[in-house]
Amino acid sequence: MDEYLEQLYQEIILDHSKRPRHERELDPCTGRAEGYNPLCGDKVTVFVREEEGKIAEASFLGEGCAISRASASIMTTLLAGLTAEQAHAKAREIYEMLTKAEEPRIDLAENGEIAALAGVRKFPARIKCATLAWHALEDALHGTEAP
Ligand code: ZN
Repeated sequence: MDEYLEQLYQEIILDHSKRPRHERELDPCTGRAEGYNPLCGDKVTVFVREEEGKIAEASFLGEGCAISRASASIMTTLLAGLTAEQAHAKAREIYEMLTKAEEPRIDLAENGEIAALAGVRKFPARIKCATLAWHALEDALHGTEAP
């Protein structure tokens, strides 16, 4: 990853951690779940409201490091309009991006701001920070699927 890109990604993460989008409780919501990352002390609660089989809105409350907050914030901007299945697929994409051995092909234009988190690959101890909100999201979506 070149230097310019790395800097741009860092700015995106800083921006989201300082001014998180959708940082509030969602009431009413159809699902909520908490996540805790003991390695870093990050805590997150993710809220989703599903309507007619799609995510209408998602939000979070959290405290922790810049990466965990930025990841949660970026996540909430990506979910509106997705089905639970599509959201699970997106979560799997993120896990792969962060843990696959080969360098992921990911860029801002194609993948949006989530690409900014790709740099976390280089810091294995921080991967849990970046995936915390996504795991909580998957829990929040469970139990809200059609019977
Ligand atoms: Zn963290």
